Amino acid sequence: MIHMNQSNMIWPDKVTICEVGLRDGLQNEKKILSVEEKLELLDMVVASGIKVIEVGSFVHPKAIPQMADTEKVVQRMKRVDGVEYRALVPNLKGLERAHAAGLTKAKLTVSVSESHCINNFNQTPLEMMEGFIPCVEYAAKHNIKVSGALSSAWGCAFEGKIPVQQIEKIVRAYLKLEITELSLSDATGMGNPRQVYEIGKYMVENFPQVKWILHFHNTRDMALSNIVAGIQAGITTFDGAFGGLGGCPYIPGASGNIATEDVVHMLHEMGIDTRVDLLKAIATARTAQQMVDHQAESHVLKAGRCEDLTNERVRHQNNKS
Ligand code: ZN
Repeated sequence: MIHMNQSNMIWPDKVTICEVGLRDGLQNEKKILSVEEKLELLDMVVASGIKVIEVGSFVHPKAIPQMADTEKVVQRMKRVDGVEYRALVPNLKGLERAHAAGLTKAKLTVSVSESHCINNFNQTPLEMMEGFIPCVEYAAKHNIKVSGALSSAWGCAFEGKIPVQQIEKIVRAYLKLEITELSLSDATGMGNPRQVYEIGKYMVENFPQVKWILHFHNTRDMALSNIVAGIQAGITTFDGAFGGLGGCPYIPGASGNIATEDVVHMLHEMGIDTRVDLLKAIATARTAQQMVDHQAESHVLKAGRCEDLTNERVRHQNNKS
């Protein structure tokens, strides 16, 4: 439920966090985690209370070797009722693999940038989306839910800012395929809060049938601000990755996703419920950091919660008296 308070800003009671660390977080790591390590992280994510989890991707194993064992992860993972397990699929082949492994939710993705698509795939975004038609038919036949991602929605290395009309064209193409859960993704970390508010609000108002998800990378430290701007635009579902891991293998210098625990911490400090146990989310990030063997890009992992600081001060004072 969204309500207005005296300051005229919009704060929802509840926000949904989707954990994408197992896919977007790990796909650019030098160290390839084992299936066992991924399953351990997955169990921790579920235990923290997160209900939407991207467990991997079914891209070509040679393209992203970090994701080559997604089948095994999906086959071996414990499935908890009420948790949605999804994977990224680039095409029909990927969707068939996801289905064979027993997955019931898939995410398609296309870049909204013409130059990005033409440079990488020699097709326009709309031409690429024609390839989604057999995917949607296959998914319907096999009871697989499908969502869609619009990558480079907030900026592109080739084109800079993407006009809202260009984003809208792709949104309409997804709606034609009857895909109504859409994620606006910022792998380049170029989005800023004003842009997120204005385009987010435009999308929410013009496409009320869509369940919007925002996906930010923290490349230029704008991701938390962008999430607040997204909330003000009326969007209440956001992706995050444990430890702020990740990046885009195709975009030079693109650093990690916004850290899940930083998002959860900020929202809890703002009095917004996420149903996520923050201490458990921090523990997941710490474990992931050990597994990938380098410092994670996470503020609460380094600094602790605001609450921890207050507790520490009280403890100090009690010791003195
Ligand atoms: Zn991403």
